[in-house]
Amino acid sequence: MTDLLEMKYGKTTPEEKVLDHGFVRIVDMMPRILPETETTADYAIAEAARCSLNRDMKTLLQDVVLNRYLMRQRHTSPFEMVEFKFDIKLPIFVARQMIRHRTANVNELSGRYAELPDDFYIPSDDNVRQQSTSNIQGSHGQVDPQVAGMFTSELFNFCEGSYETYGRFMGEGVAREQARMVLPLNIYTQWFWKIDLHNLLHFLDLRTDSHAQKEIREYAEAIIRLITPLIPATMDAWNDYSPFRGGMLLTRFEVEKIREITENMGMPVDFGAATPSTRSLTDMKVSKLENREWIEKAERLGLDHAFLRADEKDG
Ligand SMILES: Cc1cc2nc3c(=O)[nH]c(=O)nc-3n(C[C@H](O)[C@H](O)[C@H](O)COP(=O)(O)OP(=O)(O)OC[C@H]3O[C@@H](n4cnc5c(N)ncnc54)[C@H](O)[C@@H]3O)c2cc1C
Repeated sequence: MTDLLEMKYGKTTPEEKVLDHGFVRIVDMMPRILPETETTADYAIAEAARCSLNRDMKTLLQDVVLNRYLMRQRHTSPFEMVEFKFDIKLPIFVARQMIRHRTANVNELSGRYAELPDDFYIPSDDNVRQQSTSNIQGSHGQVDPQVAGMFTSELFNFCEGSYETYGRFMGEGVAREQARMVLPLNIYTQWFWKIDLHNLLHFLDLRTDSHAQKEIREYAEAIIRLITPLIPATMDAWNDYSPFRGGMLLTRFEVEKIREITENMGMPVDFGAATPSTRSLTDMKVSKLENREWIEKAERLGLDHAFLRADEKDG
């Protein structure tokens, strides 16, 4: 029998640093102890799938091929047979996003039992971003360097001041559970976060996507770096097939539009002869936002950018 974490990471706890004071560590996983013949936990997924078949299919479908089939067909329950327990230190505003993933089991540092440590997330000046105009939730680029410098230095002073107030009132006898109300959202918390691989991949789909906030994306990327050596074949399949990674989900309108383009133009596609309207979904009465999503997909598919952009302006 082999200890997978020890085999891949030696005696040290696998850890990735995130942001200025955060980290993700793997505390434990299942399966952690492997049969001698195995070198990664990918086998546990195929093993579970073979249980549904009630016979030894190993000679017919090797683990990797079977895992990839399961991923493509969204036969998800075998992926729930692998679990990870992480120790994560993260700012509270990131924790609020992460806690929405209800399928994880969480045990968090208590600000009622313990005094919260004096650790605040202060972004570097070059990571103070502008409000996005195209995505109302998002950010992009950088703000003016002078504004960024003022923001980070005022944020730092504000955090120091709030932590001083926190300590002073606890000293005056105010309960920890109330004194913490003066602390801002960028103070760090820490928790154990346990999740099965099916739901972890769903989390990673959503939280590595460009629509997710950059700070939570950094946690998701750290998790990917940590788990990939433990389940490399599964992560390859996820990267190839997930619609949020290498794959793509097409709507009925988009399928119809692609068919229309290829039928009109023949293959190989001659975009030079097309009229702008054949490039846009606006004739299908979809919203501007949906049309923009189509344009992004069409660009990835290598369809004619110039015409799509002209259409978007018309729409
Ligand atoms: C870019 C982005 C922006 C977001 N913006 C907002 C926002 O502005 N406001 C906001 O409130 N949230 C926001 N969210 C959170 C989002 O709506 C989800 O709550 C979060 O992503 C968790 O997804 P989930 O429910 O699929 O995951 P999980 O909670 O892990 O659940 C996994 C799956 O299990 C099933 N499931 C779990 N619990 C139930 C249940 N009770 N009933 C039915 N099915 C269940 C569902 O199929 C679900 O997809 C945002 C998320 C992202 C990624």
